Amino acid sequence: MTHGDVVLLRNGNEIQGEVLEEGSERVVVKFPGGVLELRKREVREIRRQPRVVYLVEQGEKQARRGDPQGAILTLEAALAEDPGSERARAALITAKHGLAVWLRDLKRHAEAREAFEALLRFEPSHPTAKEEIRALEELQAEAAREEERGRSELSSGDLESAVWRLHRVFDGFPERREALAKDLAAALVKQGNGRLNGGAWQEAEDLYAKALAMDPEVLPRVERPFTFARVRRIQEILPAGDFAIVEALAAGGLEVSPACGAFRYYRAVALEGQARTREAAEEYLSITGGKRPASLEGAVARLRQEAESIVARDGLAPTEDARWREVLPGDYRELLTRRFRIQHKNTHVADQVAASAEKAYDETFRLLGCSTHLRVPIQVQVHPDKESYLATSNMASWSGGAHLVSRRMGNLSEHRIYCFQGQPRLATGVIPHEVGHALLAHRLNYPPSIPLWAAEGFAISREPAHFHAYYRRLLAHAAASKMLLPVKDIIARSTYPEDRVELFYAQSFSLVEFLISLEDLETFLRFLKAVSEPGAEWEVVLPRFYDLPGKLAFSNRWLGWLEYSAKRE
Ligand SMILES: [Zn+2]
Repeated sequence: MTHGDVVLLRNGNEIQGEVLEEGSERVVVKFPGGVLELRKREVREIRRQPRVVYLVEQGEKQARRGDPQGAILTLEAALAEDPGSERARAALITAKHGLAVWLRDLKRHAEAREAFEALLRFEPSHPTAKEEIRALEELQAEAAREEERGRSELSSGDLESAVWRLHRVFDGFPERREALAKDLAAALVKQGNGRLNGGAWQEAEDLYAKALAMDPEVLPRVERPFTFARVRRIQEILPAGDFAIVEALAAGGLEVSPACGAFRYYRAVALEGQARTREAAEEYLSITGGKRPASLEGAVARLRQEAESIVARDGLAPTEDARWREVLPGDYRELLTRRFRIQHKNTHVADQVAASAEKAYDETFRLLGCSTHLRVPIQVQVHPDKESYLATSNMASWSGGAHLVSRRMGNLSEHRIYCFQGQPRLATGVIPHEVGHALLAHRLNYPPSIPLWAAEGFAISREPAHFHAYYRRLLAHAAASKMLLPVKDIIARSTYPEDRVELFYAQSFSLVEFLISLEDLETFLRFLKAVSEPGAEWEVVLPRFYDLPGKLAFSNRWLGWLEYSAKRE
């Protein structure tokens, strides 16, 4: 609407809109609900209102509805329409101030300061803006002092106080979060180690989980102490014979340390305790290696003993020793597993990747209900370093892994996964993620393109729980600051955004979770297949599978769900 004419009717009603045509027989009015044709004799009077008045009213309405940015745009248009209008000018000043206050309340301090400064440039004699800028400066200076104090406490070893202080800055100053996350996560790990030394296994674990949710790349530092704490807990619980809990604890442990023999051993013990002998033998065999016995059930006792002595000999967790950093000279070596052909320059890394890839394949294959296996092994190239990986895969510098289908021919399709050794989340996160991409494409029978948000969201769902916690934290923060990306932009993307790519991933993951929660995975897959067809239209496809009429409803319902699930946690 750009006009504010009022048509008064003889019956007493009035219509606000834009008079498009006023003839001797009829009057045509465009109003927010459409276009209306009236007979001239029904019309008592037409009051033409200057456009500026209409725009000012619109702008004020937007401001009241909590859209300060929109209000400013409308009011700027009003002032451009009539530069002499005092009313438009006054309304614009109020709106500019409203925006600054809105940003300040959302703790977007730097943006708030810019907004107050823009207000002052527009209205140098504004009664409160200067004072408000000063107060913001003070607040930011105070935060900087607190951060500095926290950091020096950290280096002087006053851990408890440092973590408390840095946490306060982290919560109160969203702009400082990126800069603080790594240090705070490292401090939480140290705090956890302190609890571990005191024998408080559960408390130590909680701190490690917090650290991982803050910075998932802290994983290599968490792996060993976390494993130690978790194994101790398992050993305390085991004598009571609650095998379901032991199984869950061991499976959770494998999400942090996928190659850990102890977790695999205890998982197998728990399976055996639940009379799942075959699965147990399978898991023991993954530790002992060697030839598959004719009867797994019959060999379970022998396999258990062998596994036990291997686990006892190797100790608890893979160490961070030089073996993992070694790069073999010459060409890539090859490790052929059941479903994968792994090219690598480090046997330890390759073994770990192999275990993680096979496990991810089995689980994802079952989850997706695939009917045929891939007949060509998925090729995994583990580059010796990030530079070599980036040069080959052509991915952006933030990327930790990539998946590519090089030939699409049903179960004869050729998949390639690129990754690199030294990536902290290689076996725990990157491999399950990329295998997720591969099997999703396979399950959907290789459509020309799967929407990026859906493919990423599903691939992320295959990563461990602590990584989901990290994304949920990002989402909660972005929602609280009203900085979420518009859903319509996310679902329209076919390339990764250059800015705020982590938030794009986090929201994609959440959108997929939301759709699966509405119905089930099967429905989601059928929807995905339909929406992946060339020329598929959302407004047509979406209502076929969900009680959602279109993109706008999808976006609104998701936001409601996000708010609800954030409260529940
Ligand atoms: Zn991905």
